[in-house]
Amino acid sequence: MRIDIISIFPQYLEPLNLSLIGKAQSSGRVDIAVHDLRAQTTDRHNTVDDSPYGGGPGMVMLAQPWLDALENVVEQSPKISTRPRLVVPTPSGRVFTQAIAGELAQEEHLIFACGRYEGIDERFFQQAVQGGQGVNANVNANVTVDVDRISIGDFVLAGGEVAALVIIEALTRVIPGVLGNDESVTDDSFAPGAMQYLVEGPIYTKPATWQGHDVPEVLVSGDHAAIARWRRDQSLLRTIAVRPDLIQGSSAEQFDDHDLQVLASAGWTFSQGRWVH
Ligand code: SAM
Repeated sequence: MRIDIISIFPQYLEPLNLSLIGKAQSSGRVDIAVHDLRAQTTDRHNTVDDSPYGGGPGMVMLAQPWLDALENVVEQSPKISTRPRLVVPTPSGRVFTQAIAGELAQEEHLIFACGRYEGIDERFFQQAVQGGQGVNANVNANVTVDVDRISIGDFVLAGGEVAALVIIEALTRVIPGVLGNDESVTDDSFAPGAMQYLVEGPIYTKPATWQGHDVPEVLVSGDHAAIARWRRDQSLLRTIAVRPDLIQGSSAEQFDDHDLQVLASAGWTFSQGRWVH
């Protein structure tokens, strides 16, 4: 997968060279390039913003440098058959989830547009979707992308870089082969399948007794079925405690009979198409 990131603070993206994503780059599973938006400007001050039409506080990013940057990125990227997806981190996007991470991980080419200030002039997105003749005299691009606005939660950051890091980290770890043990992806909180509506329960490592606290006995029993059941029960109970909205968003078909008993013992029953508790 190819990932291009456009930002006025390319240094913000340096952590992508570390740890899991750094290794994913070295092994060739992802190919990441960061581009400085200001490199597209031609004026003395490298201007990328101006005051908003209609008044109001803050500044708005100019459409032109963004379109120039997008065209250059598409021109410079290795040729990829599918239309790139332009991921735009913004509070006014669909809320990022593990399911969306999985969806993005299927793409061949993602381009991240990291906004700053109050965001980017809307006409950049209109142009990027509809395409047209490249505006750079020396770039004969006919750029069209799918625009995907994504929010990482109901709060406001100063810029899109941290959100891009979050999204890229989440999607990279679900690319097959990136994690040493691919099973850990399916066991994770929110993982599509049996964990989709659940968070993980408590986890333990050695020593078996620490500061007077023992690990739960079942975990040292060697009974794999009992361990799996205990973990699932703990996961159900923790989800009810910290994320009841996940259970509310599910239906009874997502759970087996034992799950439903655990939920019922905690006061949750599914009746007439909805959860009652
Ligand atoms: N005026 C915008 C609003 O009210 O929605 C907020 C702009 S914010 C100060 C600047 C940039 O930070 C945004 O363009 C976006 O790239 C990024 N950003 C802020 N909060 C975000 C969030 N929750 N998710 C993703 N990106 C975010």
